[in-house]
Amino acid sequence: MINTAINISKVSESKFTSIDLDNVTFGTIYTDHMFFCDFKDGEWQQPQITPYQPLQLDPSARVFHYGQAAFEGMKAYKDEHGDAWIFRPEENWKRINFSARRLAMPEVPEEVFMNGLKTLLEMDKQWIVPGKGNSLYIRPFLFATEAGVSAAPAAEYKFMIICTPVQAYYKGGEVKVKISDYFSRAANGGVGATKAAGNYAASFYPTNKVKEEGYQQIIWTNSTHEYLEEAGTMNVFFRIGDKLLTAPTDDRILDGVTRKSLIQLAKDEGIEVEVRKVSVKEVTEAARKGELKEVFGAGTAAVVVPITGVGYQDEHFDLPKLDNPYSTMLKEKLLNIQYNITEDKYNWTQKI
Ligand SMILES: *Cc1c(COP(=O)(O)O)cnc(C)c1O
Repeated sequence: MINTAINISKVSESKFTSIDLDNVTFGTIYTDHMFFCDFKDGEWQQPQITPYQPLQLDPSARVFHYGQAAFEGMKAYKDEHGDAWIFRPEENWKRINFSARRLAMPEVPEEVFMNGLKTLLEMDKQWIVPGKGNSLYIRPFLFATEAGVSAAPAAEYKFMIICTPVQAYYKGGEVKVKISDYFSRAANGGVGATKAAGNYAASFYPTNKVKEEGYQQIIWTNSTHEYLEEAGTMNVFFRIGDKLLTAPTDDRILDGVTRKSLIQLAKDEGIEVEVRKVSVKEVTEAARKGELKEVFGAGTAAVVVPITGVGYQDEHFDLPKLDNPYSTMLKEKLLNIQYNITEDKYNWTQKI
Protein backbone atom coordinates (compact mmCIF):
# COMPACT_ATOMS: atom_id res chain seq x y z
CA MET A 1 0.00 0.00 0.00
CA ILE A 2 1.46 3.32 -1.09
CA ASN A 3 1.61 6.13 1.46
CA THR A 4 -1.17 8.57 0.50
CA ALA A 5 -0.01 11.34 2.88
CA ILE A 6 1.37 14.22 0.86
CA ASN A 7 5.13 14.66 1.01
CA ILE A 8 5.55 18.44 1.28
CA SER A 9 8.55 20.62 0.54
CA LYS A 10 7.92 24.35 0.92
CA VAL A 11 9.51 27.38 -0.68
CA SER A 12 11.84 29.26 1.66
CA GLU A 13 10.22 32.55 0.71
CA SER A 14 6.96 33.26 -1.08
CA LYS A 15 7.20 35.28 -4.29
CA PHE A 16 3.70 36.65 -3.70
CA THR A 17 4.69 40.07 -2.36
CA SER A 18 7.10 40.69 -5.24
CA ILE A 19 4.36 40.33 -7.85
CA ASP A 20 2.31 43.22 -9.17
CA LEU A 21 -0.96 41.42 -9.76
CA ASP A 22 -2.47 44.41 -11.55
CA ASN A 23 0.06 44.00 -14.32
CA VAL A 24 0.22 40.29 -14.94
CA THR A 25 -1.23 38.63 -17.98
CA PHE A 26 -3.58 35.79 -17.05
CA GLY A 27 -1.85 32.43 -16.81
CA THR A 28 1.72 33.68 -16.86
CA ILE A 29 2.45 33.64 -13.11
CA TYR A 30 1.95 30.58 -10.94
CA THR A 31 1.70 30.27 -7.17
CA ASP A 32 4.60 29.17 -4.96
CA HIS A 33 3.78 25.47 -4.98
CA MET A 34 2.57 22.68 -7.26
CA PHE A 35 1.00 19.32 -6.51
CA PHE A 36 1.79 16.10 -8.31
CA CYS A 37 1.26 12.38 -8.06
CA ASP A 38 2.85 9.81 -10.36
CA PHE A 39 1.23 6.63 -11.60
CA LYS A 40 3.60 3.73 -12.20
CA ASP A 41 3.85 -0.03 -11.65
CA GLY A 42 0.06 -0.07 -11.86
CA GLU A 43 -0.55 2.25 -8.91
CA TRP A 44 -0.57 5.85 -7.75
CA GLN A 45 2.59 6.75 -5.85
CA GLN A 46 2.98 9.05 -2.86
CA PRO A 47 1.58 12.51 -3.70
CA GLN A 48 3.89 15.49 -3.39
CA ILE A 49 3.83 19.25 -3.10
CA THR A 50 7.01 21.07 -4.08
CA PRO A 51 8.03 24.59 -5.05
CA TYR A 52 6.65 25.40 -8.54
CA GLN A 53 9.30 24.34 -11.03
CA PRO A 54 9.87 22.94 -14.54
CA LEU A 55 9.49 19.23 -15.20
CA GLN A 56 11.96 16.92 -16.78
CA LEU A 57 10.48 14.49 -19.29
CA ASP A 58 11.96 12.11 -21.78
CA PRO A 59 11.53 13.44 -25.34
CA SER A 60 9.73 10.21 -26.22
CA ALA A 61 7.19 10.68 -23.41
CA ARG A 62 3.92 9.62 -24.97
CA VAL A 63 2.05 12.78 -24.20
CA PHE A 64 4.12 14.51 -26.90
CA HIS A 65 3.40 11.92 -29.54
CA TYR A 66 -0.08 10.55 -28.94
CA GLY A 67 -1.64 13.31 -26.90
CA GLN A 68 -2.79 11.36 -23.88
CA ALA A 69 -3.58 14.46 -21.83
CA ALA A 70 -6.66 15.91 -20.17
CA PHE A 71 -7.22 18.84 -17.87
CA GLU A 72 -9.73 20.60 -15.66
CA GLY A 73 -10.41 24.23 -14.87
CA MET A 74 -11.75 25.43 -11.53
CA LYS A 75 -11.42 28.44 -9.25
CA ALA A 76 -10.98 29.35 -5.59
CA TYR A 77 -12.65 32.50 -4.24
CA LYS A 78 -12.14 34.52 -1.06
CA ASP A 79 -15.04 36.11 0.81
CA GLU A 80 -14.94 39.35 2.80
CA HIS A 81 -14.06 37.47 6.01
CA GLY A 82 -10.93 36.07 4.37
CA ASP A 83 -12.33 32.55 4.07
CA ALA A 84 -11.51 30.69 0.85
CA TRP A 85 -14.05 28.61 -1.10
CA ILE A 86 -14.13 26.18 -3.99
CA PHE A 87 -17.16 25.50 -6.16
CA ARG A 88 -18.55 22.01 -6.87
CA PRO A 89 -15.06 20.41 -6.89
CA GLU A 90 -16.44 16.87 -7.04
CA GLU A 91 -17.76 17.69 -10.52
CA ASN A 92 -14.22 18.40 -11.72
CA TRP A 93 -12.92 15.25 -10.09
CA LYS A 94 -15.61 13.14 -11.78
CA ARG A 95 -15.00 14.85 -15.10
CA ILE A 96 -11.22 14.38 -15.16
CA ASN A 97 -11.89 10.70 -14.61
CA PHE A 98 -14.47 10.65 -17.38
CA SER A 99 -11.79 12.17 -19.63
CA ALA A 100 -9.20 9.70 -18.28
CA ARG A 101 -11.35 6.68 -19.11
CA ARG A 102 -12.03 7.86 -22.65
CA LEU A 103 -8.32 8.50 -23.25
CA ALA A 104 -7.30 5.16 -21.70
CA MET A 105 -5.55 6.81 -18.75
CA PRO A 106 -5.83 5.69 -15.10
CA GLU A 107 -8.48 7.39 -12.97
CA VAL A 108 -7.28 9.74 -10.24
CA PRO A 109 -8.46 8.55 -6.80
CA GLU A 110 -10.78 11.00 -5.04
CA GLU A 111 -8.42 11.35 -2.09
CA VAL A 112 -5.45 12.20 -4.31
CA PHE A 113 -7.49 14.86 -6.13
CA MET A 114 -9.32 16.43 -3.18
CA ASN A 115 -6.57 16.21 -0.61
CA GLY A 116 -4.02 17.53 -3.11
CA LEU A 117 -6.31 20.38 -4.10
CA LYS A 118 -7.18 21.43 -0.56
CA THR A 119 -3.65 21.13 0.80
CA LEU A 120 -2.18 23.10 -2.10
CA LEU A 121 -4.82 25.84 -1.69
CA GLU A 122 -4.23 25.96 2.04
CA MET A 123 -0.50 26.49 1.42
CA ASP A 124 -0.97 29.10 -1.31
CA LYS A 125 -4.04 30.75 0.22
CA GLN A 126 -2.63 34.27 0.14
CA TRP A 127 -2.69 34.02 -3.66
CA ILE A 128 -6.50 33.96 -3.57
CA VAL A 129 -7.01 37.70 -3.71
CA PRO A 130 -10.25 38.89 -2.06
CA GLY A 131 -12.77 40.96 -4.00
CA LYS A 132 -15.55 39.86 -6.33
CA GLY A 133 -14.08 38.95 -9.68
CA ASN A 134 -10.65 38.16 -8.26
CA SER A 135 -9.92 34.48 -7.89
CA LEU A 136 -7.31 31.80 -8.18
CA TYR A 137 -7.62 29.71 -11.33
CA ILE A 138 -6.83 26.06 -10.63
CA ARG A 139 -5.57 23.76 -13.34
CA PRO A 140 -5.56 20.03 -12.55
CA PHE A 141 -4.14 17.91 -15.41
CA LEU A 142 -3.18 14.35 -16.24
CA PHE A 143 -0.79 13.17 -18.94
CA ALA A 144 1.28 10.21 -20.14
CA THR A 145 4.92 10.36 -19.09
CA GLU A 146 6.15 6.93 -20.11
CA ALA A 147 9.07 7.02 -22.55
CA GLY A 148 8.80 5.18 -25.85
CA VAL A 149 6.93 5.87 -29.05
CA SER A 150 4.99 2.64 -29.43
CA ALA A 151 1.41 3.59 -30.18
CA ALA A 152 -0.38 2.19 -27.16
CA PRO A 153 -1.61 3.61 -23.87
CA ALA A 154 1.28 4.49 -21.58
CA ALA A 155 1.99 2.67 -18.33
CA GLU A 156 3.13 5.83 -16.54
CA TYR A 157 1.29 9.11 -15.93
CA LYS A 158 1.50 12.27 -13.90
CA PHE A 159 -1.42 14.05 -12.29
CA MET A 160 -0.68 17.65 -11.32
CA ILE A 161 -2.37 20.76 -9.96
CA ILE A 162 -1.04 24.25 -10.59
CA CYS A 163 -2.68 27.61 -9.79
CA THR A 164 -2.56 31.05 -11.36
CA PRO A 165 -4.12 34.28 -10.00
CA VAL A 166 -7.00 35.99 -11.84
CA GLN A 167 -7.63 39.69 -11.41
CA ALA A 168 -11.10 41.07 -11.96
CA TYR A 169 -10.89 42.98 -15.17
CA TYR A 170 -13.25 44.35 -17.69
CA LYS A 171 -12.22 42.85 -20.92
CA GLY A 172 -13.73 45.77 -22.82
CA GLY A 173 -14.42 44.93 -26.38
CA GLU A 174 -17.19 42.85 -27.73
CA VAL A 175 -17.46 39.18 -28.37
CA LYS A 176 -18.98 38.39 -31.73
CA VAL A 177 -19.37 34.82 -32.85
CA LYS A 178 -19.55 33.14 -36.22
CA ILE A 179 -21.62 29.99 -36.67
CA SER A 180 -19.50 27.24 -38.20
CA ASP A 181 -20.80 25.80 -41.46
CA TYR A 182 -17.67 23.78 -42.17
CA PHE A 183 -15.40 23.01 -39.20
CA SER A 184 -16.39 20.71 -36.35
CA ARG A 185 -15.03 20.57 -32.82
CA ALA A 186 -16.29 17.11 -32.00
CA ALA A 187 -17.88 14.02 -33.48
CA ASN A 188 -20.40 11.39 -32.42
CA GLY A 189 -18.47 8.70 -30.57
CA GLY A 190 -15.48 11.04 -30.29
CA VAL A 191 -13.85 12.91 -27.42
CA GLY A 192 -15.74 16.22 -27.55
CA ALA A 193 -17.35 15.67 -24.17
CA THR A 194 -13.94 15.23 -22.50
CA LYS A 195 -11.45 17.94 -21.64
CA ALA A 196 -8.85 16.30 -23.85
CA ALA A 197 -5.99 18.71 -24.51
CA GLY A 198 -6.18 17.84 -28.21
CA ASN A 199 -9.71 19.24 -28.49
CA TYR A 200 -8.21 22.65 -27.92
CA ALA A 201 -5.38 22.12 -30.40
CA ALA A 202 -7.97 21.24 -33.04
CA SER A 203 -10.04 24.36 -32.33
CA PHE A 204 -7.32 26.98 -32.79
CA TYR A 205 -7.15 26.95 -36.57
CA PRO A 206 -10.91 27.35 -37.19
CA THR A 207 -10.99 30.07 -34.52
CA ASN A 208 -8.17 31.93 -36.28
CA LYS A 209 -10.18 31.74 -39.50
CA VAL A 210 -13.19 33.50 -37.97
CA LYS A 211 -10.88 36.06 -36.36
CA GLU A 212 -9.77 37.04 -39.86
CA GLU A 213 -13.44 37.85 -40.54
CA GLY A 214 -13.71 40.07 -37.45
CA TYR A 215 -15.25 37.54 -35.07
CA GLN A 216 -13.72 36.54 -31.73
CA GLN A 217 -15.14 33.06 -31.41
CA ILE A 218 -16.73 30.29 -33.37
CA ILE A 219 -20.07 28.67 -32.60
CA TRP A 220 -19.57 24.98 -33.13
CA THR A 221 -22.29 23.03 -34.81
CA ASN A 222 -23.00 19.32 -35.20
CA SER A 223 -21.60 17.34 -38.14
CA THR A 224 -24.38 18.47 -40.49
CA HIS A 225 -23.98 22.08 -39.24
CA GLU A 226 -27.68 22.32 -38.45
CA TYR A 227 -27.53 22.52 -34.65
CA LEU A 228 -25.67 24.92 -32.37
CA GLU A 229 -23.49 23.25 -29.77
CA GLU A 230 -20.82 25.33 -28.02
CA ALA A 231 -19.29 28.81 -28.31
CA GLY A 232 -15.51 28.58 -28.47
CA THR A 233 -14.55 26.69 -25.32
CA MET A 234 -17.77 27.51 -23.51
CA ASN A 235 -21.28 26.13 -23.40
CA VAL A 236 -23.78 28.45 -25.03
CA PHE A 237 -27.25 29.77 -24.20
CA PHE A 238 -29.77 31.50 -26.49
CA ARG A 239 -32.63 33.68 -25.33
CA ILE A 240 -35.50 33.78 -27.80
CA GLY A 241 -38.28 36.00 -26.45
CA ASP A 242 -38.18 35.18 -22.74
CA LYS A 243 -37.17 31.56 -23.16
CA LEU A 244 -33.67 30.30 -22.52
CA LEU A 245 -32.39 27.52 -24.76
CA THR A 246 -29.29 25.38 -24.52
CA ALA A 247 -28.28 22.10 -26.10
CA PRO A 248 -28.36 18.85 -24.10
CA THR A 249 -24.94 17.39 -23.38
CA ASP A 250 -23.88 14.35 -25.37
CA ASP A 251 -20.73 12.90 -26.97
CA ARG A 252 -19.93 16.21 -28.62
CA ILE A 253 -20.88 18.71 -25.93
CA LEU A 254 -18.97 19.17 -22.72
CA ASP A 255 -21.01 18.91 -19.52
CA GLY A 256 -20.00 22.27 -18.03
CA VAL A 257 -20.34 22.99 -14.33
CA THR A 258 -21.21 26.61 -15.12
CA ARG A 259 -23.85 25.49 -17.63
CA LYS A 260 -25.65 23.22 -15.22
CA SER A 261 -25.43 25.75 -12.37
CA LEU A 262 -26.92 28.48 -14.58
CA ILE A 263 -29.75 26.21 -15.73
CA GLN A 264 -30.66 25.65 -12.07
CA LEU A 265 -30.41 29.34 -11.18
CA ALA A 266 -32.49 30.36 -14.20
CA LYS A 267 -35.22 27.87 -13.26
CA ASP A 268 -35.17 29.21 -9.69
CA GLU A 269 -35.82 32.67 -11.15
CA GLY A 270 -38.88 31.32 -12.93
CA ILE A 271 -37.25 31.56 -16.35
CA GLU A 272 -38.48 29.00 -18.84
CA VAL A 273 -35.44 26.90 -19.74
CA GLU A 274 -35.50 24.42 -22.60
CA VAL A 275 -32.64 21.96 -22.78
CA ARG A 276 -32.95 20.66 -26.33
CA LYS A 277 -31.27 20.79 -29.70
CA VAL A 278 -31.15 24.39 -30.92
CA SER A 279 -31.14 24.74 -34.69
CA VAL A 280 -29.23 27.28 -36.72
CA LYS A 281 -32.48 27.88 -38.58
CA GLU A 282 -34.57 28.82 -35.55
CA VAL A 283 -31.87 31.10 -34.15
CA THR A 284 -31.24 32.92 -37.42
CA GLU A 285 -34.98 33.24 -38.05
CA ALA A 286 -35.51 34.62 -34.54
CA ALA A 287 -32.63 37.05 -35.16
CA ARG A 288 -34.22 38.27 -38.41
CA LYS A 289 -37.50 38.88 -36.58
CA GLY A 290 -35.77 40.64 -33.68
CA GLU A 291 -36.75 37.86 -31.27
CA LEU A 292 -33.20 36.72 -30.54
CA LYS A 293 -32.58 38.75 -27.39
CA GLU A 294 -29.38 37.27 -26.01
CA VAL A 295 -26.64 34.78 -26.68
CA PHE A 296 -24.08 34.05 -23.99
CA GLY A 297 -21.26 31.66 -23.31
CA ALA A 298 -20.79 29.92 -19.94
CA GLY A 299 -17.61 28.49 -18.45
CA THR A 300 -15.49 28.67 -15.30
CA ALA A 301 -12.82 31.00 -16.68
CA ALA A 302 -15.04 33.89 -17.79
CA VAL A 303 -18.24 32.74 -15.99
CA VAL A 304 -20.75 34.33 -18.40
CA VAL A 305 -19.77 36.05 -21.63
CA PRO A 306 -22.46 38.11 -23.34
CA ILE A 307 -22.24 37.89 -27.12
CA THR A 308 -22.97 41.08 -29.02
CA GLY A 309 -23.32 39.75 -32.55
CA VAL A 310 -23.75 36.52 -34.48
CA GLY A 311 -22.59 35.83 -38.01
CA TYR A 312 -23.88 33.07 -40.23
CA GLN A 313 -22.61 32.67 -43.79
CA ASP A 314 -23.09 36.10 -45.39
CA GLU A 315 -25.41 37.48 -42.73
CA HIS A 316 -24.61 39.30 -39.52
CA PHE A 317 -27.02 39.95 -36.66
CA ASP A 318 -26.29 42.46 -33.93
CA LEU A 319 -27.97 41.64 -30.66
CA PRO A 320 -29.98 44.29 -28.82
CA LYS A 321 -28.59 46.04 -25.74
CA LEU A 322 -31.03 45.09 -22.99
CA ASP A 323 -31.49 46.88 -19.68
CA ASN A 324 -31.73 43.71 -17.59
CA PRO A 325 -30.26 40.85 -19.56
CA TYR A 326 -30.48 37.31 -18.22
CA SER A 327 -26.72 37.04 -18.69
CA THR A 328 -25.91 39.74 -16.12
CA MET A 329 -28.58 38.59 -13.68
CA LEU A 330 -27.49 34.93 -13.79
CA LYS A 331 -23.82 35.83 -13.55
CA GLU A 332 -24.46 37.90 -10.42
CA LYS A 333 -26.48 35.08 -8.83
CA LEU A 334 -23.67 32.62 -9.49
CA LEU A 335 -20.89 34.94 -8.31
CA ASN A 336 -22.83 35.71 -5.13
CA ILE A 337 -22.86 32.01 -4.29
CA GLN A 338 -19.22 31.50 -5.28
CA TYR A 339 -18.09 34.46 -3.12
CA ASN A 340 -20.25 33.38 -0.15
CA ILE A 341 -22.38 36.54 -0.42
CA THR A 342 -25.75 34.81 -0.64
CA GLU A 343 -27.19 31.56 0.62
CA ASP A 344 -25.81 28.46 -1.07
CA LYS A 345 -28.93 26.34 -0.91
CA TYR A 346 -27.55 23.55 -3.08
CA ASN A 347 -24.33 23.18 -1.04
CA TRP A 348 -22.25 23.89 -4.10
CA THR A 349 -19.39 25.56 -2.24
CA GLN A 350 -16.79 24.09 0.08
CA LYS A 351 -14.62 26.03 2.49
CA ILE A 352 -10.88 25.43 2.28
C1 LIG B 1 -14.27 23.42 -19.87
C2 LIG B 1 -15.22 23.57 -20.99
C3 LIG B 1 -16.49 24.17 -20.83
C4 LIG B 1 -16.95 24.81 -19.55
O1 LIG B 1 -17.03 23.94 -18.45
P1 LIG B 1 -17.09 24.54 -17.00
O2 LIG B 1 -17.16 23.32 -16.14
O3 LIG B 1 -18.32 25.36 -16.90
O4 LIG B 1 -15.87 25.35 -16.79
C5 LIG B 1 -17.35 24.18 -21.92
N1 LIG B 1 -16.97 23.68 -23.11
C6 LIG B 1 -15.77 23.13 -23.30
C7 LIG B 1 -15.42 22.60 -24.65
C8 LIG B 1 -14.84 23.05 -22.26
O5 LIG B 1 -13.64 22.51 -22.47
